[in-house]
Amino acid sequence: MPEIIFYRYSHGYSVFNPREVREEYREIKRMGGQAVGLAVTTEDKVYCSLELRRHVEMMHQAGLKAIFVFGRWGGLFAAAAINSSSRETFKHPEWWKVGPDGKPPGCIVCCVNHPGFRRYFFEEAEHFFRWMEPDGLLMDEPKDANWPCYCQYCRSKGNPRQIHVGSLAAFLGEVARFFKKLRPGGSTYLFHMPGQPVPFYEETAAQEGLDYLGVDGPLCLQKKADGRVLSKTPLLESMKTVLPIVKKYGKKTLVVPENFLVPAGEEKVYAKNLRKLLQEKPDAVVFHYYGFGNENPALLMRKIEQVLRSLPSEKTPE
Ligand SMILES: [Zn+2]
Repeated sequence: MPEIIFYRYSHGYSVFNPREVREEYREIKRMGGQAVGLAVTTEDKVYCSLELRRHVEMMHQAGLKAIFVFGRWGGLFAAAAINSSSRETFKHPEWWKVGPDGKPPGCIVCCVNHPGFRRYFFEEAEHFFRWMEPDGLLMDEPKDANWPCYCQYCRSKGNPRQIHVGSLAAFLGEVARFFKKLRPGGSTYLFHMPGQPVPFYEETAAQEGLDYLGVDGPLCLQKKADGRVLSKTPLLESMKTVLPIVKKYGKKTLVVPENFLVPAGEEKVYAKNLRKLLQEKPDAVVFHYYGFGNENPALLMRKIEQVLRSLPSEKTPE
């Protein structure tokens, strides 16, 4: 049986009804969850600091581990809307990664080699780790190994094209070890987006301090509200590239079968492919708690629950 983690974004949890939140964590426990990943933005420090601690308290009362997730910090991770990268990120354009022309090429991601950004990131992280006392840390789709940064700090380390993947991986390892130093005994998790350069999978897998490593992706059709179909590599495909690398480095495997933006009628396909995925025996699986943009969130959740309940009897795959 893999470790089952249910995932929540910060959206909406500042509206805090203790009775409902407590019941949600009990439900997660009943559905087979062992932990909850809570995506937190840096702005939450100001608006709902108290609620964050209460969430952790209620997770523990329900018998669940609390896993901290960076919600879009510095544009470096997913797990929140892009405009919640934090006010500090927008106030400091000098932290942004830049192309050879000195301009950010299209999106805002902070440079892990910029001393100002590094100071800010680790100070904020320390605050949240000490304040919330989470049992684990999860990093969601670190950005962006596909393009190098040409700022003065990256150039001083060598050819930007050669050092960028290693720099980013080293930073993620550093963050994982920083977490473990502040939260001894805690576990660290990271999942990639499919389509990253293979050396990025390799270099992150080689990082000391990272316990679980894997990839996310769809198990069925996903559609946005405007009707656009999401074209992300299916998880059953991308895991064939990523998981052997994870195992080669002796790390535990993690998969994120994306249960969001699922149109009506696709729930069956999702459940069928989830069974296939679990036959590969990943060490940890992350589901979104009810997800978002699902036409029938309750039905999809029940399907997941059914598959999880049938797990122990699935020792011999059909
Ligand atoms: Zn840079």
